Amino acid sequence: MITSTRAVTRRRLMSSAAAMAAGSALAASTPSGGAASPHHGPTRASFHRIEIGAFEVTMLLDATAMIDGPWPIVGEDRPRGEIEALMRENRLPPTRFQPGFTPVLVNTGRQTVLFDTGNGGVGFVPRPAGGRLGERLAAAGVDPAAIDLVVLTHCHTDHIGGLAEGGRPFFPNAAYAVCAREFDFWSKPERLSAEPDGNEYKSALVFGEAFRPLAERTRFLKPGDEVCPGIHALAAFGHTPGHLAYHVESEGRRLLIWGDCAHHEVASLAHPEWSAFFDMDKAQGAATRRAIYEMAATEEIVVAGYHTSFPSLGYVARNGTGYRWVPVSYQLDL
Ligand SMILES: [Zn+2]
Repeated sequence: MITSTRAVTRRRLMSSAAAMAAGSALAASTPSGGAASPHHGPTRASFHRIEIGAFEVTMLLDATAMIDGPWPIVGEDRPRGEIEALMRENRLPPTRFQPGFTPVLVNTGRQTVLFDTGNGGVGFVPRPAGGRLGERLAAAGVDPAAIDLVVLTHCHTDHIGGLAEGGRPFFPNAAYAVCAREFDFWSKPERLSAEPDGNEYKSALVFGEAFRPLAERTRFLKPGDEVCPGIHALAAFGHTPGHLAYHVESEGRRLLIWGDCAHHEVASLAHPEWSAFFDMDKAQGAATRRAIYEMAATEEIVVAGYHTSFPSLGYVARNGTGYRWVPVSYQLDL
């Protein structure tokens, strides 16, 4: 990776040297002295807004890190080469990937509801690459004080890291909702006996500092519960003991917010049975993936996939013994 980055840098230098040479040749031959246009660098959208019936939905990009993988994050139980080959077939780099980290804001017209809070200053992707939710909300014209309800899919650091900023709740007027099982699990002191470098320990630490103090403002959900009119919780256990997905429905249009039911839109969907490194119960995580993908494919629901590529919206289609992710293009503009 270092070698190829250097190669790219070298190519850029060479092409910019060539451009400068061409520019000075042009300047020499043009009496008015026209200069070459400067490059402005690559751009990317940081938020993406759609409508689901009468609800306005904003996808917010919290992190842009390029990390090692998808093996073993997806397919840790498989030979590395198998995942790398699948990436090549899909014209993706075999050993590096850029997960989405995409909280979802739903304005129902009556309430403003945020699903997951990104990495904050303490999450899986450190600043400056991660923890950008506050900036994205500002860019999208949303004041954190306007958020009425923060709903969590689960309590890993990349989902609860943005709950607090500088030791204070980042959403000063919000109530919270999470699965009762999830809150109980992370409340147990033995979580802090986990391996200090691991995701469990770090998540327990952030939970204790940022979420547990908000218990009195938190509603504890079970699958099937109505979170607010048009939004229902759905069991998606396995990744964590109380991982929930959420159905959002307005005027007959539906969105499924599935949290961490996929860590990679190609690998997770092609082989839901492949073990996921960050699943706390591997067998249950695999069963949940298959069940959720099957439902999304059968019911043709638009999915908000937290770790799928930004804007993290797509459909699921059956493909052989697995599934494939179909990114949203113009379907929601109809
Ligand atoms: Zn996650």
